[in-house]
Amino acid sequence: MLGSVLSLFVLCAPSGAQQPAAAQARPRAPQAGALEIGDPYFPGLGNGGYDVEHYTLSLDYDFEGDELTASAGIRATALHDLASFSLDLYGLEVAGVRIDGQDARFERPPVPAGADGKPQPPSELVITPSAPIAAGASFQAEVRYGGRPHGRPDPAVPFLPGGVGWFRMESGVYVVSECIGAGSWFPCNDHPRDKATYSFRITVAKPYTVAANGIRTEVVEAGEARTFVFEARDPMASYLATLNIAEFSELEAKGPRGIPVVIYHPVDATQAELADFKRQPEVLEFLETVFGPYPFEAAGGVLSYEKIGGALECQTLPVYGRGSNLEVIVHELTHQWFGDCVSPDLWRDMWLNEGFASYSEWLWTEHTEGKAAYEQLAKRSYAELRKRKTGAPFDPGVARVFSGRVYQRGAFVLYGLRQEVGDESFFRILKTWVETHKNGNGSTEAFVTHAAKTAGRELQPFFDAWLYADVTPAQPELEPPPAPAAGKAGG
Ligand SMILES: [Zn+2]
Repeated sequence: MLGSVLSLFVLCAPSGAQQPAAAQARPRAPQAGALEIGDPYFPGLGNGGYDVEHYTLSLDYDFEGDELTASAGIRATALHDLASFSLDLYGLEVAGVRIDGQDARFERPPVPAGADGKPQPPSELVITPSAPIAAGASFQAEVRYGGRPHGRPDPAVPFLPGGVGWFRMESGVYVVSECIGAGSWFPCNDHPRDKATYSFRITVAKPYTVAANGIRTEVVEAGEARTFVFEARDPMASYLATLNIAEFSELEAKGPRGIPVVIYHPVDATQAELADFKRQPEVLEFLETVFGPYPFEAAGGVLSYEKIGGALECQTLPVYGRGSNLEVIVHELTHQWFGDCVSPDLWRDMWLNEGFASYSEWLWTEHTEGKAAYEQLAKRSYAELRKRKTGAPFDPGVARVFSGRVYQRGAFVLYGLRQEVGDESFFRILKTWVETHKNGNGSTEAFVTHAAKTAGRELQPFFDAWLYADVTPAQPELEPPPAPAAGKAGG
């Protein structure tokens, strides 16, 4: 759902008694919803004019034919009088659209050819209901669609030539959509600013099974096919929605306060491969001590058969490439607080995701190996960061959203902040940040203000040097000791 501040602003703007008489005398005709949400890193991404509350995704996937037959139900609220509105949908074929049960017109605006001259699939679905939708009205869109899904090329992830979103591998399907891949498998408002809850009804032939976000509530048998029903009742950003189809085995455990933890894994996974995943309850218990209560109703993850180029913190169900270790698990579980529960306001705020998840790996090291091991990580990181001008963690540019300046220098900001304000204030800043922005979004500016307010002191000079400056600030106490004199080394 949209952040409350934005919704209030948009909803309140047209209603005021204090508006100029001219504006009242000439009520505006219903407008088209904006074709993008206004994220400078991704022109055209997301949409304006409405706020989605719930997606109901009914997907039938033909594994052999690699073909999807689907319908998406989208319950949303109009933020102004809507003559038309758009959804992000990459490729795929649309068979029909209904709004509140009435057929609606739709079009897929053509996209200019890419730099290589190749034609591009459409990425928007523009819907014109039979009558305008009034500001504040709740409406239900039904989109019937299908075809062979493909990952969407993402300028933030140039190292994945197949794009992001839907990945068809030898073993099955995995969905990892950060930043712009959600539209590769369902029509949506594809930006973290518009969070919603989800229901999934996914039908596949035996012996395949399905893992999606939230809690599996039902498995409906119908001959050779099975429909797996999942409910994700906590608001979720579109890039964190996931669907995985393969021959999975399951491991179940209980997390803090009895939260169900389900790990879907290859049937041939060894005990050694699963050992780190079995430690999730222990990791979650530790993370609760530093960040506050785990924010969702379920936890767990999917371990893919193949290496899928890393892991993604899908909400309640991170997707891990084969070979992921405990460090990666700590990282992805930390994202459940930082990234998932509190999502970036714009993609330039990515350090609020990755800096925090990376720093949490240091906290885990401190927890399991002690303070000296933690300081050693800081020294090593400092030596690397000072070797070159990395650039500031905030606003890295779209091509560097997943770079060291976001991850490593982002983590280093938190190391420095803890030094600056002390443990008590530092952990209070983190916990109250999650409480304040729970199930919403946070911007870098809001975090800077929040940190100063919580610590009760001026922190602008600190953030200017650590967060906004291109060069990592000099820290004499982290400099390596002078090299030992020749002849004394050894032993
Ligand atoms: Zn991460």
